[in-house]
Amino acid sequence: MGKSLEERIAAQALSYVVDPPTGLDPVINLASPAELEGLFDQTVGFGFGDDEGAHDDDSIVAAVDLVIKHSVHTSHPRFINQNFAGPDSVSVVGDWLGAALNTTGATFEAAPVFTLMESAVLSKLGRIAGYVDADAEQIPILPPGLFCPGGSTATLYALQLARHRMRPDIRRTGATGEQMTLFVSDSGHYAASKSAALLGIGTDSVIKVDSDERGAIVPDALRAAITGSAEAGQGPFAIIATSGTTVTSAFDDLNALAGIAEEFGLWLHVDGCYGGSALFSAKHRHLLDGVERSDSFVWNLHKMMGMTQQCTALLVREPELLAPCFALNADYLFQPDKLNAEFDSGDRTFQCARRIDVLKLWLAWKHHGDAGFAARIDHAVEMAEHARRRIEASNGEFAPVVGNFTNVVFGWIPPNRRPLSLSPAHIAGLAPEIHAELHALAPKIKAQMQANGTAMVGFQPIEGLNTFRLLFMNPDVTATDVDAMLDLVADYGAEALT
Ligand SMILES: *Cc1c(COP(=O)(O)O)cnc(C)c1O
Repeated sequence: MGKSLEERIAAQALSYVVDPPTGLDPVINLASPAELEGLFDQTVGFGFGDDEGAHDDDSIVAAVDLVIKHSVHTSHPRFINQNFAGPDSVSVVGDWLGAALNTTGATFEAAPVFTLMESAVLSKLGRIAGYVDADAEQIPILPPGLFCPGGSTATLYALQLARHRMRPDIRRTGATGEQMTLFVSDSGHYAASKSAALLGIGTDSVIKVDSDERGAIVPDALRAAITGSAEAGQGPFAIIATSGTTVTSAFDDLNALAGIAEEFGLWLHVDGCYGGSALFSAKHRHLLDGVERSDSFVWNLHKMMGMTQQCTALLVREPELLAPCFALNADYLFQPDKLNAEFDSGDRTFQCARRIDVLKLWLAWKHHGDAGFAARIDHAVEMAEHARRRIEASNGEFAPVVGNFTNVVFGWIPPNRRPLSLSPAHIAGLAPEIHAELHALAPKIKAQMQANGTAMVGFQPIEGLNTFRLLFMNPDVTATDVDAMLDLVADYGAEALT
């Protein structure tokens, strides 16, 4: 008997996971929207007609081949494009299994295994971050946080908690126009302002504090901003510290910020979406010294750790605050007289149905162990250091811009402009025609990479100048890949000049 459609698609997916594109395989098979539509028209089509019929298995399997071929191969070691890459293959199949067991994490009744699993993983993350004692229970009834659908959503929840601690009545009355102000560095993530908009705090009440050349907040500037805000009656209530900024991977000084938060009685939230995973490494965990003094901490395991998107833990130092902030005691779902109802997590969050994001992490962690997780971080930092050394030794072909931890921001300099410094201070002083020439080069180099499918690397403006950003996290990236990426940038740069 022939195989079912499900078996055929599962085989296509599995073969992709165990034998992903690598080396000289393309990172992307670039096609325009019209080309993609044309290709799919040869199978089942993209669109749906008014009376769309059922398609045969062979056509659908052919369409799945196209889906795979024309998707970006984020597991390829030369995909170094943004803050995720190289999905952990155990996590991929863990995600599939979670979907197969389709349930919601809201109650023990519907998710007995996953409820305990979340508790176990959150307890372990909490111990690593110093949120709970080293000898705390491994599977507590009330774990120190919850899993959220992404870092932005977790930031929203954390700020709702922060406001609730200061003004619990707002939950009932709604925001009444009384100003409440929060502070984040000007290198912080836009999730702060988006959350402020949604919560009715307002984006005008998000004060962006100066950061230094590396991108870390200046603590004295923060203290001055809070003092001024308090004197003006603007109701300071929370500070967001960033551990690993999105663009330069800068780490704020958490002990300094915790001291300021304690001094003014503010909630300290740590945005560790990107850099939180440094805690897995004995070598690099010092970057988050002081995190144990914060009130909440968001940690995206789908970034550095390669869990499939999304996998976000929100740790809360006082998890007892979650229920008063979020609960509505829906009596049709959270019946207190149900078996094991004390384990239900659903009324400690905003969501009703909650996807099972913990299984893939639990499986991958059991597979790699603490040492495997640490090795992933250490390898990423080593690759970043290799790239920095190559750039330094390039005789002016490449210019370093900034970059911390696993992040390397740099520019390619045309031969007639060498040597040229691209430190942020120098960028600000570039002659306008040189600025314009370099600014236009990066997108051309990237477009050529995409067209040839050889690699993908991100670029972004620093002081208004497009610069490249390498972000390491895929454990399969080798020094050879790093060298090849830099060579490609140089080759396409030279090509763009002709
Ligand atoms: C990625 C990121 C976020 C947002 O997380 P999502 O899961 O993409 O919503 C927030 N802060 C920082 C520093 C990030 O890098």
